[in-house]
Amino acid sequence: MPEDTKNENTQPAYKIIDHTFDCVVVGAGGSGLRATMGAAEAGLKTACITKVFPTRSHTVAAQGGIAASLGNNSPDHWSWHMYDTVKGSDWLGDQDAIEYLVREAPQAVYELEHAGVPFSRNEDGTIYQRPFGGHMQNMGEGPPVQRTCAAADRTGHAMLHALYQQSLKYDADFFIEYFAVDLIMEDGPDGPECRGVIAICMEDGSIHRFRSHSVVLATGGSGRTYYSCTSAHTCTGDGGGMALRAGLALQDMEFVQFHPTGIYGAGVLITEGARGEGGYLTNSEGERFMERYAPSAKDLASRDVVSRSMASEIKEGRGVGKDADHIFLHLDHIDPNVLAERLPGITESGKIFAGVDLTREPLPVTPTVHYNMGGIPCNYHGEVVMPTKDDPDHVVPGLFAVGEAACVSVHGANRLGSNSLIDLVVFGRATGLRLKDTLKPGTAHKPLPKDSTDLALARIDHFRNAKGGSPTAELRLDMQKAMQKHCAVFRTDELMSEGVTVLEGINKKMQDVKVSDSSMIWNTDLIETLELDNLMGQAMVTIKSALNRTESRGAHARDDCPDRDDTNWMHHSVGTFEGWGGKSSEVGLSTRPVHDFTLTDEAEYIKPKKRVY
Ligand SMILES: Cc1cc2nc3c(=O)[nH]c(=O)nc-3n(C[C@H](O)[C@H](O)[C@H](O)COP(=O)(O)OP(=O)(O)OC[C@H]3O[C@@H](n4cnc5c(N)ncnc54)[C@H](O)[C@@H]3O)c2cc1C
Repeated sequence: MPEDTKNENTQPAYKIIDHTFDCVVVGAGGSGLRATMGAAEAGLKTACITKVFPTRSHTVAAQGGIAASLGNNSPDHWSWHMYDTVKGSDWLGDQDAIEYLVREAPQAVYELEHAGVPFSRNEDGTIYQRPFGGHMQNMGEGPPVQRTCAAADRTGHAMLHALYQQSLKYDADFFIEYFAVDLIMEDGPDGPECRGVIAICMEDGSIHRFRSHSVVLATGGSGRTYYSCTSAHTCTGDGGGMALRAGLALQDMEFVQFHPTGIYGAGVLITEGARGEGGYLTNSEGERFMERYAPSAKDLASRDVVSRSMASEIKEGRGVGKDADHIFLHLDHIDPNVLAERLPGITESGKIFAGVDLTREPLPVTPTVHYNMGGIPCNYHGEVVMPTKDDPDHVVPGLFAVGEAACVSVHGANRLGSNSLIDLVVFGRATGLRLKDTLKPGTAHKPLPKDSTDLALARIDHFRNAKGGSPTAELRLDMQKAMQKHCAVFRTDELMSEGVTVLEGINKKMQDVKVSDSSMIWNTDLIETLELDNLMGQAMVTIKSALNRTESRGAHARDDCPDRDDTNWMHHSVGTFEGWGGKSSEVGLSTRPVHDFTLTDEAEYIKPKKRVY
């Protein structure tokens, strides 16, 4: 029932529409839909809020596949998958969460199969599995394992459609094209607690207050802090922005994955499945240079290793093209029938975005921002944690995070290909189970805090009426270029210190932002400014965490500190940032221990060693 709550607080009068749910999920990508299904199935009154239509979430773009040790195409075991994930993470992943992930993975894939995902098949009818970078047999000894299940090169598309269709079967309410602005937080006896979320309906500009026992942030990654990235324009890390403004921390933000094969110029992704099916990289001398950098895994070494090798080749003058600034990916030796059957989507992308016929010519590619290993810290039940002095794993009541927005942490310093899609469904499901165990449907709600809408309305009103001299698009471009230049594949103290100064300047200019449209109806100018505000906080935490970490680990590679330093840096980085609208550039940095224990006695703790492929 719409309710007018004018003058309820100090903020300008906006019409507020109230809703009450047991559980609100923000995000309808793979992780959000799986959590929504779980909560609704448990009989909880559940809402799913999404800024884009569910099947337009970035999960739809995932190509290569989803990892699980089914052992259909080569011998495999969950303990091998665990070993590879820990090694891939450069020992920064939490081993209890990793054990949970790999042991639940096969069941999660079968669940998707039964939900209707049309997986590619072997002759005998079992699910086809392809090799992917960093996935090996025999506890890393090799040879490569075939562990990645795929629906041709449209796995995410198939998954998202199946999950959306399934979720309609349950009694969840979808709020589509609603933009979540801020969390409703309240101080509890042991620290902050979440009580709900405020969103704008983009169509008519109405403000919606969702009172809820629990909020699940499933808002995806923040790839758009960078200029060249494979993720959608909607990947603006809104959940991370909301968490920061709620005074919560983000974890391991310095670990940004560069995918080796973004199409040069366009940033569009060519799946690692292309190398899984036999594709290889060459430099300007026609050399298969990965044989030098990773003699055993070669082109299928993990992503950070391949991206760095490519960047080194380019830096040393062996790049291809007029400006010697990219690398060739060859698929022209593969049987065209195999390409048509297993990689139809990328054949099309090659044609559209590079004007290249893959069956005849190599494709120009370059390392491109692809995935955020960092995010909102949480445990393997999906519960958000905020480290305190006495408890590094202190749970924030009422708040959950899943998917790329979260940092469980199973990917540590570097994620293996096809380990994100499995993370979405395993931890989306785990979150549903936790909600089922901890929340009784229909439990009475406490009254909302008096200032429940203050933060969200203050920001909406501020930006809607921002009449400065710096258009949102200009500030966003400056931020993206600065991150691309100062915090990319290779990092040094000098480069990043310079970057911090540049970014602080850009962040400050947020106070001078100009929003031309002050209406409330489909105001994309306002929405993009709220998104930029979210990105800006994350860019600041990313570069300052990166500058602070004086070692090289996984995706964080420093020319001035080339070695991994387990004595001083075997811990998660944790960063807070409370300013919004450019009021402050302060980042509060601290640390949180890595979980160096497993979930059960059946798994063995995997001791750190040098990471070579
Ligand atoms: C091109 C590409 C290919 C990939 N291929 C693979 C692969 O083959 N295998 C693999 O394992 N991983 C792959 N990945 C990674 C993986 O796809 C992503 O990490 C994953 O899909 C993210 O899912 P998610 O559920 O966290 O969020 P997303 O799918 O990004 O969805 C985010 C959701 O949050 C909603 N949202 C965000 N902000 C707000 C807000 N303010 N208000 C309301 N709603 C909001 C959006 O509407 C959307 O529904 C790929 C990624 C890319 C970019």
